[in-house]
Amino acid sequence: MENLNPIENARLQLKSACELGDIDKKVYEILKNPQRVIEISIPVKMDDGSIKVFTGYRSCHSTAIGPSKGGVRFHPNVTMDEVKALSMWMSFKCGVMNLPYGGGKGGIEVDPSELSERELEELSRGYIRGIYKYLGDDIDIPAPDVNTNGKVMGWMLDEYIKLTGHHRPGVFTGKPISLGGSKGRTEATGLGVTYITRNICHKIGLKLSETSVILQGFGNVGSYTFKFLEDMGFKVIALLEWDKEIGEYALYNKNGISYEKLSKFKEQNDTLIDFEGANKINSEEFWSLKADILIPAALENSINEEIAEKLDVKVIVEGANGPVTSSADEILNDRGITIVPDILANSGGVTVSYYEWVQNKYGYYWSQEEVFSRLEPSMNEAFENIWKIKEEKNLTFRQATYVYSLIRISEAMKYRGWF
Ligand code: GLU
Repeated sequence: MENLNPIENARLQLKSACELGDIDKKVYEILKNPQRVIEISIPVKMDDGSIKVFTGYRSCHSTAIGPSKGGVRFHPNVTMDEVKALSMWMSFKCGVMNLPYGGGKGGIEVDPSELSERELEELSRGYIRGIYKYLGDDIDIPAPDVNTNGKVMGWMLDEYIKLTGHHRPGVFTGKPISLGGSKGRTEATGLGVTYITRNICHKIGLKLSETSVILQGFGNVGSYTFKFLEDMGFKVIALLEWDKEIGEYALYNKNGISYEKLSKFKEQNDTLIDFEGANKINSEEFWSLKADILIPAALENSINEEIAEKLDVKVIVEGANGPVTSSADEILNDRGITIVPDILANSGGVTVSYYEWVQNKYGYYWSQEEVFSRLEPSMNEAFENIWKIKEEKNLTFRQATYVYSLIRISEAMKYRGWF
């Protein structure tokens, strides 16, 4: 049986990075657990007059380099172990992009589609009442993640301001523009995934206009990735989506699916199930499709051993956090499929969160062009540096990325006298 406990997988990655990078074992001992984890109960007055109590978490993995940074997700499968693992991945992600942050992550165990707007607002505010003493633009900085967005950040910021009396917009990122959000933040993760997909194609000699992509997920990351891939000349030939009623379903068109038609259809129907511009296939067929690139942009553990055996792609670019299980990772490495890891591929989001925080500190705001013109070279630089380590040390892309980031984090820990 595969081990799907995310914190155990995250620890294995940390351990292997310490070994491969010849990094002091004490670093592993310090980083294998988060510095702080909070669990709270959030009572919400429901619309029908009843009270429902939800469980929320916030994990601050490391503050070696700076305040902890990372999103808050609303999902029925949120657990403390998942949040801990995701916060560790955020430490690595911030290290990869040389951001002045450590890693954090939060979540509430809830299916937000079952809540009314008012209940959701109550829940978001209750979450902040439970953890606000441990938040701050120099302590721990939340942002959107799965099923949360700018609107949720707006409620959270408002609750924070009411509780503390201080208007500190930089305590949250991914805010609406009118509340101090950054231009380009919503698009940033998908755009970054696209830059990295382009870079890996250049490295392995794939011509963009002849490169086919299959994509899992059409949420914030998946939909913008789709859009920017198409803008760059790629052909997205299949999309795997999930629906509450029917579960997984996929769309396939060997000539490419049109982003414009797809997003219009989604806007009008709130689902893609009956989209006419592609054939409907099932998830098994989706995972067996022949394509150049696969981009999983849904949840962790989507690609297990069974799927890893049947994939017919050259490269996987991880748009989601932790989409490949550790056993699937081994199989894919053996099969010679290159995996560009999440902590590099999807780091565009937190990088623009950092720009948002900088703009909040200055009280001076940038154009979208300026945001993107900073994001692209900084992602290219990380990509090139990691590629070099991968080639020099003969590592997998994932191993090289972890080593690259851990060298930075461990150096900060050393200079602070932590070991
Ligand atoms: N939730 C996003 C991630 O996993 C963004 C985090 C942030 O902007 O702080 O990278």
